Amino acid sequence: MMQGIEFIKQMLFKPMSNMKFINPETVEEFCTQKLTISQRSGQLSTDEFCAVKRVDDEKVNTQARAQLLKQFALQCLNSTEQNKVINKQHQTVKIVGAGCGDIELLTLKAAKVITQADAIVYDNLVCAEILQLASNHCSLIYMGKQFAQKSRTQDEINQSLYHLATSGIKVVRLKGGDPNVFGRGGEEALFLAKRGVKSEFIAGVTAALGCAASSGIPLTHRKVARSVTFVTGRTCDNKREQAVIDEWQGLLSANSTLVFYMGKEKALEIATGLMLAGAVGSLPVAFITNGARQSQTIKFSRVDQMAQDALSLKQAGPTLIIVGEVVTIGAELEHCLAFCSQSIAANESLYG
Ligand code: SAH
Repeated sequence: MMQGIEFIKQMLFKPMSNMKFINPETVEEFCTQKLTISQRSGQLSTDEFCAVKRVDDEKVNTQARAQLLKQFALQCLNSTEQNKVINKQHQTVKIVGAGCGDIELLTLKAAKVITQADAIVYDNLVCAEILQLASNHCSLIYMGKQFAQKSRTQDEINQSLYHLATSGIKVVRLKGGDPNVFGRGGEEALFLAKRGVKSEFIAGVTAALGCAASSGIPLTHRKVARSVTFVTGRTCDNKREQAVIDEWQGLLSANSTLVFYMGKEKALEIATGLMLAGAVGSLPVAFITNGARQSQTIKFSRVDQMAQDALSLKQAGPTLIIVGEVVTIGAELEHCLAFCSQSIAANESLYG
């Protein structure tokens, strides 16, 4: 069977044999320059077609031209060398959230695609138990990134996903938490889509939700916090410039619980920034390390002490920081629950 550009030329000349305005050069030009339009829409507008082909033939009526355009665009889609990848029977890459803790926070949908995968590209926040769900033939490929450690670049990860996907196997990109909360899932999906590879996101329990639940801190609470803001600590800055202070003030004024991802190493910047923006020093803070895992630890602090407290956290594993009055609600709940346990234990010892 004829392939690529030759095929398009033949197909074009056949139905359009009575139309003199087409020549091979313009077809090639179309294929290279306008391919994205045809990929997007499956057909071109008459204007686009005319612009590309410099059509000025008045004899062809608009309807017939539109029909030919559609045919032409579809043929291009099916046949160009550049677009070959679209024709391959490769699978949709699943960009999946593994949840932030143990295996029980994995969604059923995520579990299903993991068990069906031929290759799983995973990051350092994915727990070993979850990887065990993979089939025996599945390739497990580690491509994690860790703070201050040499690791794969995002481009290398993107390229690997692309090569795996175009080899026709079922690929799962597995990330801790949710793939699109500081997970760069969107970047990977865009990279693939621009090269003709489809992907699908599968949500995961992000660290803010998982850690808040497992540490008993409600992220919103009536009359205490009416919104939640997820902030990356990576870019936190404590410069005394007005623009930076304005940004911190924006975060504070929303009457919001602030949840800092990747913030442990930036605790000093966070504390200074918040206080420059007017936060009171006693504003409660919680550090949750290895949230929703068996090894979870919680350290309560306050904004004016958090930088020092962060330095005292020696446990390995990811740490999330929750800042806001809701931390006090969590502490109150913990106190009440401890009281419940004591009462139950006392009753049991009295009445058997
Ligand atoms: N996509 C992930 C976040 C990746 S950024 C998600 O949705 O959860 C990595 C940061 O997430 C860590 O530095 C830490 O701040 C936070 N994090 C992830 N899992 C965590 C956990 N189990 N306990 C505490 N923090 C966690």
